[in-house]
Amino acid sequence: MNLQNIQNAVMDSRHIVCLFGRNAAADCGCFNYRDSACAYAVEQKYGYSPEEIFSAAFYNTRPKLFFEYYHNEILDSLGEPGAGFMTLKRMEEDRKVFAVITRSIYGLPRRAGIRNYIEMHGSVYENKCPHCGTEYDLAFMQNAKGVPFCPKCGAVVRPQIVLDGEMIPNSRITSSANEVSRADTLLVLGCSLRSTLARNAVKYFSGNRIILINEEENYSDSVADLVCHGKPGDILPMIYR
Ligand SMILES: [Zn+2]
Repeated sequence: MNLQNIQNAVMDSRHIVCLFGRNAAADCGCFNYRDSACAYAVEQKYGYSPEEIFSAAFYNTRPKLFFEYYHNEILDSLGEPGAGFMTLKRMEEDRKVFAVITRSIYGLPRRAGIRNYIEMHGSVYENKCPHCGTEYDLAFMQNAKGVPFCPKCGAVVRPQIVLDGEMIPNSRITSSANEVSRADTLLVLGCSLRSTLARNAVKYFSGNRIILINEEENYSDSVADLVCHGKPGDILPMIYR
């Protein structure tokens, strides 16, 4: 633990970009299919792994089961932004943090009131009818029983989420690269530097320092300049008051 060093580094930073990882989202109470107990329970209940269900192929061929899973597991465990996100919001207001980038789909940044965020995989808040183009909010999906049909044209309303086997829109990749390239500090929360989120971002980073706050140790931690092994939700409020 070198909280004082991290605190000093944050004070010295002029343009922080934050990567918000899966472990941090799980700490917020979001459904975490990577957790082995959770993955096992899903397989027992649905007969498929979470990865199989959350794929484009599955969505297209078994929409009924996809939406059963989506409704009962994903939409039932949206979590709460918590103390970590509240600190990030203050850091954004103080013009310390300039962007939050995440692959999490639970809409945590917007619920925390963060203004500039990029959800690489989209979020549960955006839903659209592929036929007539009508957009639907989260409440519409939550209230839909079974497969959500568009009231206007009868087509299946699709969550605007990147499923396994689909590409992240280029515009998001470009925006994320631009944000990272402007940063003097990369603040990595709740994922290792080996994670896809971090690996994709670090390529574009040419700033002064990488700060990593993640509970699990990883061999890639040494790439970071400052490391704290703990939960971002606990640590962030301590390093930025
Ligand atoms: Zn429609």
